[in-house]
Amino acid sequence: MTVTTGPVMGEPLPIELANATYAIRGHPQDGLRTVEQLAFWLEQVRPRLPLPPSDADLRDIGPQDLVMARELRDAIRTLAAAAVERTPPPAAALDSLNRCVRTALSWRELRWDDGTSAEPRNDARPITATLSGIAELAVDLFAGPALADLRACHAPGCVLFFIKDHPRRAWCSPGCGNRARAARHYRRTKA
Ligand SMILES: [Zn+2]
Repeated sequence: MTVTTGPVMGEPLPIELANATYAIRGHPQDGLRTVEQLAFWLEQVRPRLPLPPSDADLRDIGPQDLVMARELRDAIRTLAAAAVERTPPPAAALDSLNRCVRTALSWRELRWDDGTSAEPRNDARPITATLSGIAELAVDLFAGPALADLRACHAPGCVLFFIKDHPRRAWCSPGCGNRARAARHYRRTKA
């Protein structure tokens, strides 16, 4: 069986996780229904994770990790929607994100071998630490300058978020741009 989780498009990780809820031809899809999907998603973004899990960590993913990942995704989606609509978010979504950050305490320790390096350490199971790390990136994103560039894609049927990293970028993907132009053309020719 092929495992799919939705698109991974090079957005900041919290947005990438939010986009594990996506749509196919306007029908909403949940890209994180199983532990296999969570493992596949984490494997796809692993090189970019602040605390990348090992293969063994990915095999060790359990139902409680899935619950945490889904809660985090839903909280980020709710906060992102509030941000683009410029409305205050529900307190529950804020609590949910902050609870996820707190599940792992992380710090860096100084190593002094050939040269010096800062080694990331934490007090949680690897997947818990990974998800908590993504939650912390979400805190930085929502509290930082990138928030001004956060957009919801308004192509027909699309539910994805993206960071407008180019002044002329209007869609999450070229595919959505094409569909939006086709829909506009259809409306015009019908009128
Ligand atoms: Zn789109």
